[in-house]
Amino acid sequence: MTLPEFTLVRSSKRKTVSLQVKSGKVRVLAPRQISDLQITELVEQKSVWLWRKINEQQQIVEQSMVRQFIDGERYYFLGKQYSLAVVHASSKDVQLIDDKIVVTLLKRDAAPALIADKVQTAMRQWYIEQAKVILQQRLSEQQQFTKLSATAVKIRHYKTRWGSCDSKHRINLNWLLVMAPVEVIDYVIIHELCHTVHLNHSSAYWQLVNQFFPHYKQAKTWLKSHQQHLYW
Ligand SMILES: [Zn+2]
Repeated sequence: MTLPEFTLVRSSKRKTVSLQVKSGKVRVLAPRQISDLQITELVEQKSVWLWRKINEQQQIVEQSMVRQFIDGERYYFLGKQYSLAVVHASSKDVQLIDDKIVVTLLKRDAAPALIADKVQTAMRQWYIEQAKVILQQRLSEQQQFTKLSATAVKIRHYKTRWGSCDSKHRINLNWLLVMAPVEVIDYVIIHELCHTVHLNHSSAYWQLVNQFFPHYKQAKTWLKSHQQHLYW
């Protein structure tokens, strides 16, 4: 499991370490004499609790959001949030720059009535391109790890699911998955690969998932708590 990002505040007056989660962000208050390693270990020990808090708080923030494809809107990519910035130039482009997802539109598409549509198209295309590379790569890695394999793979759009696997072991993955952290992507891929053994959600099936991905409940929780934010 990845460690949640946190800001560290040290103080010579403190005697103990305290972890706080506010508005989905983690703050660690620590005495000066404690090493960075000790702090990281502590955050690691508490990471299940921290992620649950972060997710609960982010869910509340996200429930009130509707996509408009305008400046300042937050978009996930590999589990990290980026703020949308729309600019105009002579050629089209989408790029991640620091904490921004910068969408460059053609100058002729600067009419306010067109922008949201053009931004949506450009972002969708970019996400799909990323998904094709990243999901393929994660899949080959997980195939090697589990020794289970798909006979065919398609990256496609689903409204209400993350992936599927049929009786011929053909796996489909939703491109929107690239918004999720890599561990969550891996969980969905392992979920589908395990369907090549059990084409159901029986306890034998979940035992197999658990064998390859013991933290699967956390991954499921992440998807559930972020779904409003991940679907288009
Ligand atoms: Zn399933």
